[in-house]
Amino acid sequence: MKSVSVLAASILLLLCSSSFERPNVPVHQPIIVTADSLHVRSGPGRSFSITNKLTKNTRLSVSDRQGDWYYVESSDIQGWVFKKFTKTVALRSVQPSMQVAQREPVYTLSKSLRHLKGKTIIIDAGHGGKDKGAIGTQGTYEKDLTLRTALILQNKLQKEGAHVILTRTHDEYLLLSQRTLQSTKADAFISIHYNSTNNSQLTGLMTYYYHQHQDSPLTHSIHQSLINHAKLKDKGERFGNYYVLRENTRPSTLIELGFLSNEREETYINSISYQQMITSAIAEGLNHYFQSKEKTQTHL
Ligand SMILES: [Zn+2]
Repeated sequence: MKSVSVLAASILLLLCSSSFERPNVPVHQPIIVTADSLHVRSGPGRSFSITNKLTKNTRLSVSDRQGDWYYVESSDIQGWVFKKFTKTVALRSVQPSMQVAQREPVYTLSKSLRHLKGKTIIIDAGHGGKDKGAIGTQGTYEKDLTLRTALILQNKLQKEGAHVILTRTHDEYLLLSQRTLQSTKADAFISIHYNSTNNSQLTGLMTYYYHQHQDSPLTHSIHQSLINHAKLKDKGERFGNYYVLRENTRPSTLIELGFLSNEREETYINSISYQQMITSAIAEGLNHYFQSKEKTQTHL
């Protein structure tokens, strides 16, 4: 099913790359067929041809929505179904801890982030395409999670008036040099990653800088904000010899937002509440960084 959900994600993200504003359909939203039989159509309406027929209790993944129609996918089916004859099920309903996480209140921005207005921020979703990145104990692909985080973050930053550039908007392989291609335009460059190691006990989040003077203030602001909000172990701010930092001429940071190699942490970092919380924390950290910069400039 992994390849299906990856495909679903890629199609969703391709469709949404111009405007990712579909709050009612989370990526990979699973649904179940409630009617005895349900037609799959080639387009979002009754006038489109029937391409398949589903039976009751079939599980599918929604990757787009138009009006009353869902674009769904399973291992051998892609097409549109009438929403009324389906019901949504909790994301990753096989994981009980995940359901608990979803009942938690959604973390929202606590304050006005006015210092983000007009800033150009590049968000780099780590890995992609043939480069899956880390693979979690339950099968999470790092490349999928980094993109999910990047898209949520993009949405939040844009709402505050920032100009956001994503290095990738769907499941695509990029050379490292392609990731830094537009970095000269950036007021801040953030590379998003999730961690993995052979020691399944290791947990926590860490942030990396390369150029002390250029990157540390940004790294520090984001790290502090993440530590203040996320219930993850603080593994510190570190020097990291990463291409996307080293070859960057603008303030940049690389963040490792938890370990996919620890089963509990993998479940937690996959949860909607965690994704909401960390993206808000990154936005707040960025805002704080720009605010401090402005203060320093006025004191000169
Ligand atoms: Zn990575």
